Amino acid sequence: MANDLFAIPVERLRGVSTQKAGELHALGISSVGDLIEYYPFRYEDYRVRPLHEAKDGEKITVQGRIATASSLQRYGRTARLLCRVTVDGLLVTAVWFNRAYLKDQLEIGRDITLTGKWDARRRQITVAESEFPDRGGAKTGTLQPVYSVGGSLTQAWMRKKIDEALNQYGAMIPELLPAELLNRHALIPRREAVLRLHRPENTKEGQEARRRMVYEELFLFELKLQAYRAANRKQPDGIAHQVKSEEVRAFVSSLPFALTDAQKQVINEITYDMKRPYAMNRLLQGDVGSGKTVVSAVALFMTVRSGCQGALMVPTEILAEQHARSLTKLFEPYGIQVGLLTGSLTERKRKDVLAALQMGLIDIVIGTHALIQEDVYFRRLGLVVTDEQHRFGVNQRSILRKKGLNPDVLMMTATPIPRTLAITVFGDMDVSTIKERPKGRKPIKTYWVKHEMMDRVLGFIRREAALGHQTFFICPLIEESEKLDVQNAIDLHAQLRQALPELAIGLLHGRMTPAEKEEAMGEFAAGKTNVLVSTTVIEVGVDVPNATLMIVMDAERFGLSQLHQLRGRVGRSDHQSYCVLIADPKSENGQERMKAMTDTDDGFEIARRDLELRGPGDFFGTKQSGVPEFKVANLVEDFAALEQARDDAAELTAKPEFWTSPAYERLREYLRREALFQGEPLD
Ligand code: ADP
Ligand code: MG
Repeated sequence: MANDLFAIPVERLRGVSTQKAGELHALGISSVGDLIEYYPFRYEDYRVRPLHEAKDGEKITVQGRIATASSLQRYGRTARLLCRVTVDGLLVTAVWFNRAYLKDQLEIGRDITLTGKWDARRRQITVAESEFPDRGGAKTGTLQPVYSVGGSLTQAWMRKKIDEALNQYGAMIPELLPAELLNRHALIPRREAVLRLHRPENTKEGQEARRRMVYEELFLFELKLQAYRAANRKQPDGIAHQVKSEEVRAFVSSLPFALTDAQKQVINEITYDMKRPYAMNRLLQGDVGSGKTVVSAVALFMTVRSGCQGALMVPTEILAEQHARSLTKLFEPYGIQVGLLTGSLTERKRKDVLAALQMGLIDIVIGTHALIQEDVYFRRLGLVVTDEQHRFGVNQRSILRKKGLNPDVLMMTATPIPRTLAITVFGDMDVSTIKERPKGRKPIKTYWVKHEMMDRVLGFIRREAALGHQTFFICPLIEESEKLDVQNAIDLHAQLRQALPELAIGLLHGRMTPAEKEEAMGEFAAGKTNVLVSTTVIEVGVDVPNATLMIVMDAERFGLSQLHQLRGRVGRSDHQSYCVLIADPKSENGQERMKAMTDTDDGFEIARRDLELRGPGDFFGTKQSGVPEFKVANLVEDFAALEQARDDAAELTAKPEFWTSPAYERLREYLRREALFQGEPLD
């Protein structure tokens, strides 16, 4: 594009030194286009309002006239400047801190605009900013944008630079949306919207601008998703798995339990996809304990029976080992070879596994990130399954997929994704949901207790142990310090051993060697330990059906979804299970989380509340999760716009001529720049 704002380096602007440019780069701003699209995250309101509208403690801008001479008081290092000002017929006190230099300017009778906090009882304004109308009063009456700045970049500098960029280059801001859509939704032109976002004259204008940009952002995003879908669906270049139904039926009936209807249903959906010559791209969601593993086992069985290899990628070694154990048991009678590939294999063992994989001697490999190392080759990879897929970045999933020739892909998650996020993040996938848990499962009873009730908690552990059941005792992961975190677990372990001498207490944490971890986990799984004190290393996937009590120490330190995952470690058998959250949350947010946990054990409801409490950005806790980072749109608030944008994008792209239209040509450049998913730019 000839006049592409993104091709003009930000250094081209006056007063942007190499150092300043460096700091702008750190904010993701390298071109004039980036700077122009660096929108404020809020506005400072300098619009003058009558004083009687101000609530106590509120920030307000008022116009007044200086009524008395000012006085300056010094307390240590603090200088306090005081004077009285007539505002709307009322005499109020204006107080400045550390602004002694203003004293000479506070002349009786001079008009002044004050912005600051109103203290109704003392009739006083603590002035944050003041301006004199006789000197221009640039901010008075405006909404000033507030940008996120860092380093030596100040708010004022940023405002100035963006202002200059808009004045100099604003005319070059292109329209991106087809006129048809602008009309349909009465949206203002793009150039105007960008200008208004930075400098709205009033709230309504700001809202109009925001509405337009929100829609655009979501529409472009949906358009990219449609392009993805179209690209994925077009080519029948996937693997058409050949499997005999009788064989699958025989395998299913050899399982140690009867499948639930929900499991059968999703297996049907997966089978249908796998038999077709299009690459499957399916998300399997089901609450913790709903029985996803066995569904993946059936899919893996099918790929092997059709002459391919299957890979199952999981986020932790503990989980990899657990799956390897349980799948080996299922597959052994069929002569299907299961291999394990984790980071802690010895170099020799690793080489053996790699060779066996490449030669096709291993049918199904289960592993951690170790699976996506460069030197891992398959003979014929037919199915890729990722368990707890939200723990992986989109990148990591696609690397594994590329180790085969368009293998089928099945992603499993126990973090039910609220509909908003599902549309955006997984809009290019088909979704299967397991809606019921296996029969006989009782809801997990959840209690929130204070630390001082520890004695009763110990009694609870004894009672469950007497019934032959086991307990998980989780100590929080302290992000800043793994060392502290491990120490916590060690201390708690020692305390419990003292308090419960009659019970066998195990310990599991991140600093143990893989062999030690496996031993601790193995002993617990085998029922040799009554209680397992652990850090959150067991958060996802761990399956020990005999465990019926989950205790979480300092539960307020965990996010809602994480607590739900932890709770999901129990309730995996017919026995009544319990979850005890030990927490004294100080914040309202923390109390909300505890309340949500005791209110419901429905994962979808939990996810919805989690999204509300945390916002979409933090929902998955990882930046590479694929949740798009929008500049203006907010996935919670702008859900209606998202649905509209999706429908519009679908309608537009359904017309074949759209893909060759000038409107699309104009969008292409833009779509390409903003990679839909990290690492997977649109071709
Ligand atoms: P998740 O969906 O959380 O990964 P799992 O696959 O680990 O759940 O299954 C939870 C537990 O339920 C396991 O012990 C599994 O063997 C058992 N299970 C799975 N399906 C059924 C079923 N249809 N009937 C009874 N138990 C089942
Ligand atoms: Mg699981």
